[in-house]
Amino acid sequence: MNRPDIVVVGGGAAGMMAAVCAARQGAAVTLIERNRKVGRKLYITGKGRCNVTNHCSPEEVRANIPRNARFLYSALEHTPPAWVEEFFESLGVKLKVERGNRVFPASDKSADIIDALFFELKRLRVTIVNGRTSSICLRDGGVCGVEMGEGTGLTGFPCKAAVLATGGLSYPATGSTGDGHRLAAELGHTVVDSRPSLVPLESPDPFCARMQGLALKNVVLTVKNGKKKTVFQEQGELLFTHFGLSGPLVLSASAHMGDFEKESYTCAIDLKPALDEAALDARLVRELSAGANRDMDNVMGTLAPRLLVPVLLERVGIPGNKKAHDLTKQERRRLLELFKCFPVAVSGPRPIEEAIITSGGVKVSEVDPKTMQSKRVPGLFFAGELLDVDAYTGGFNLQIAWATGRAAGEGAAAYLGENDGSKQF
Ligand SMILES: Cc1cc2nc3c(=O)[nH]c(=O)nc-3n(C[C@H](O)[C@H](O)[C@H](O)COP(=O)(O)OP(=O)(O)OC[C@H]3O[C@@H](n4cnc5c(N)ncnc54)[C@H](O)[C@@H]3O)c2cc1C
Repeated sequence: MNRPDIVVVGGGAAGMMAAVCAARQGAAVTLIERNRKVGRKLYITGKGRCNVTNHCSPEEVRANIPRNARFLYSALEHTPPAWVEEFFESLGVKLKVERGNRVFPASDKSADIIDALFFELKRLRVTIVNGRTSSICLRDGGVCGVEMGEGTGLTGFPCKAAVLATGGLSYPATGSTGDGHRLAAELGHTVVDSRPSLVPLESPDPFCARMQGLALKNVVLTVKNGKKKTVFQEQGELLFTHFGLSGPLVLSASAHMGDFEKESYTCAIDLKPALDEAALDARLVRELSAGANRDMDNVMGTLAPRLLVPVLLERVGIPGNKKAHDLTKQERRRLLELFKCFPVAVSGPRPIEEAIITSGGVKVSEVDPKTMQSKRVPGLFFAGELLDVDAYTGGFNLQIAWATGRAAGEGAAAYLGENDGSKQF
C-alpha cells in the first residue's frame, strides 16, 4: 500500500465525501472504516430511500439547524444543496424532489448513493481499509499518523493529515459508537455532552401502551414548554408505542424539546385538524343521531380508529355501553374537546441509541469553519455528526455531512500543500 497523505477515519456520508474531495485535489487518501462495508448508516436513511439533501438555499438549510448554524455558514455557502444534487447526478444518480423539498434518488434506493460514492472512491484510487481506528499519533504537536487495532495487533498509517468522521452515538449497530468523541478528547478537544435528537418520546400515560401500533395520519401535534409557550406545531403522522410516542411528527418535535432536565413539556394532539369546533360538533351530532340506539363504543367507531375508541371514552368518563341518545350535551362537549386536544404526558426522550441524531460533539469554536481543521492540533480535521451541529428532518443532517465532509477533505488537501510533509511517523 502506498503511504497516504491523508487518512480519513469513518466511511459514512461525511468521511466518504471528505475522501472523494481530498483525492480530487490530488492527495493520496486512505479511508479506514470499521465495518466491512462503507455507508452502513446511509443504507438505512430515509427508510432505505435516503433523503440525501433538501432542495433549498443555504439560508434555508441554516434555518433548519437549531444548533450552531452560524458555524456552518462558509461550509454551506461552498457546498449548498445544489452542489450536492449536481455531485450525485454527475455520478449517475438520478434524483427527485418530494414534499417539503426532500431530495431522494429516483430509484428510491439508498444503495445507489452508497454505490456512487464507493465507485468514485475506487476511481480516485482511495484505499479503503477495514478496521477500527484506536488513536491519532502526533509529532511536534501535529498529526503524523493513525493507528488501528489494539495491543500487539496495532497497525500504523503514517500520514500528514487525518479527518475524523466517525459520526455520533446513535444507532450503534451501524458502527457509530462515539469513538471519535474519545479520540478528539484525547487530543485536547472539548466534547459537548451528547443528547439524543430526532428521537421517540417516553410517556408515563398507560394508554399509550394500550394503543401500541396505532398510527395516526394527518393529526396536528402541539408541544408547549413549562411556560405554556408553543415550541412545536405541525401536521403529520404519529405512532403510539409500548413506551410512548414515535413516528415522523414526534421525531421532528423532539428536536425542539431542548433539555428535559431543565424544562417540562406537554404534548397535545388535534385528532381532527380538518374540522373546526363547529364543524366537528355538527359531525358528532350527525353520527350520534344516526346511531341513536347504538352503544357509544359502537358509534365512536365511525369517528376514530378501533384502538382509540375505548381510550377516548374512558378519558371523558363515558361508559362504552351507554346509548348514543343518552349522551348529555356536556358529555358531547367533553368528547369534542378531547378530539381537538388529546393530551399526552411526556417524561423524556428514548435513549441516544434510538435517536436519529446525536446532538453535541466536538465543540465548534475549536474548529476552523472554512476548513474544519482543529484549532488545537495542526493536520487534524473533523466532519459530520461528530461535530456539535444537528438539524431537523428533511435531508438537512446529510447536507451537513456532505458540506463539512467536502470542507474537511479540501481543507486537508490544502494543508498538505501548505506544509512540506516532512513529518515522519
Ligand atoms: C434511521 C436513520 C435514518 C436517517 N435518515 C436520514 C435522512 O433520510 N436524511 C438525512 O439527512 N439524515 C438522516 N439520518 C441522519 C444521517 O444518517 C446522519 O446525520 C449521517 O449519516 C451522519 O454522517 P457521518 O458520516 O457523520 O456519520 P455516520 O454515518 O455515522 O458514519 C460514521 C462512520 O464511522 C465509522 N467509525 C466509527 N468509529 C470508527 C473507528 N474507530 N474506526 C473506523 N471507523 C469508525 C462507522 O462505522 C461509520 O460508518 C438518519 C439517521 C438514522 C439513524
